[in-house]
Amino acid sequence: MADASAAPQNPREIVDRNFELAANRLGLEKEMRLLLKVPFREVRVEVPVRMDDGSLRVFIGYRIQHSGVRGPAKGGLRYHPAVELDEMRALAEAMTWKTALVNIPFGGAKGGIACDPLTMSPAEVERVTRKFIARIHLLLGPYRDVPAPDVNTNAQVMAWIFDEYSSRHGYSPACVTGKPADLGGSLGREQATGRGVMIVLGELLKDLGRSFQGLRVAIQGFGNVGANAALLLAEQGCKIIAVSDVKGGLFHPDGLNVPELVAYVRKNRFVPGFPGADPLSNEALLELECDVLIPAALECALTEKNAPRVKARIIVEAANLPTTPAADEILHQKGVLIVPDILANAGGVTVSYFEWAQNLQQTFWEEERVNGELYKTMARAYRQVADLAQKSKIPLKTAAYQIALERTARAEQLRGI
Ligand code: NAD
Repeated sequence: MADASAAPQNPREIVDRNFELAANRLGLEKEMRLLLKVPFREVRVEVPVRMDDGSLRVFIGYRIQHSGVRGPAKGGLRYHPAVELDEMRALAEAMTWKTALVNIPFGGAKGGIACDPLTMSPAEVERVTRKFIARIHLLLGPYRDVPAPDVNTNAQVMAWIFDEYSSRHGYSPACVTGKPADLGGSLGREQATGRGVMIVLGELLKDLGRSFQGLRVAIQGFGNVGANAALLLAEQGCKIIAVSDVKGGLFHPDGLNVPELVAYVRKNRFVPGFPGADPLSNEALLELECDVLIPAALECALTEKNAPRVKARIIVEAANLPTTPAADEILHQKGVLIVPDILANAGGVTVSYFEWAQNLQQTFWEEERVNGELYKTMARAYRQVADLAQKSKIPLKTAAYQIALERTARAEQLRGI
């Protein structure tokens, strides 16, 4: 049982705890735990960049390849002031379990640059990206490590990565996913993580004998994942009663007009100021009276401090590692159902896999096919997790980690040291 007084707020402790619970259930031996846990490769580089005002800044960039045992390392690239080594390690490891859980032929990786793109010009972000790739390109590649978008990176950043990598290695669209469709990006990739959130919530609701209709949903984070989940859930009949971003939040008891809010944010960047809704703090959003809470921003949003006041009955972890072990324990005791991140937000990496496969085969799928295959992959993974959780009377999170660890351990065993 997690010790609430220990109050771990480090994402590393979240992934360590989830790993330990599942490894214990599987009875994994010490040597296998070591093999599974220790990252394959960690890189830290300086990224010197000339800023628009002529000054020189040196950013620090990371790429952690946690595992390549089931396929090329795969994971997002994050631009955020809080990026540091331990966070990257935790997120890279979570990617290994995620790709194993949805059973796609990838390992896990994560990268990031400690910078604040909200205060940088697009030209500065481009120079930082190109310099970072110049530093690490030898460690990347379609069969080695394939980056993708994450917090504060998007299709444009992926296009620069594609260009920078290809200028050194020849035309290589499969070196990065989440690209614009004009450069070999997959249709449906932009919405994929939000769509995956909708799919797993839909499958859970079916099991509970409930429907999307009228469900009151609160979403923290209104970027790629949060906004697309909001749009798709609203289309299904949910009431999106609250959303927030880094600048604050909004509340409307009858549901926000999500398409109008998305258009507003496209123009004004942030959600506060959207007309016809009440302001709401990020803290209040997490404790709001609602049916479903979707953390879709950063790690450690739910802790032992706010978990006792969470009123949602279902939490769908769209962000990576948003719940600390102590919060998990409190929420579990309260009977809250938590759909774990490695399942809930796996839609993005699943369509990244479709993009990589299309690029390698030089084909292009219709969006209908992408969404159909995504549904099959997500629904299958949900079923496996839900069945194991029910059979073993364990939380969905432990079941998800158990399946992922078992698959990865088998691959380690087969390949040998
Ligand atoms: P994004 O940069 O598009 O959006 C992040 C959102 O979170 C923004 O609205 C931002 O304002 C908000 N935010 C940042 N700090 C916040 C804070 N302290 N409080 C409240 N809101 C805050 O990023 P994204 O791609 O949507 O990623 C969101 C989460 O989903 C991350 O945990 C990421 O690792 C995870 N994820 C993303 C993908 C993907 O395909 N993009 C896939 C799987 C998981």
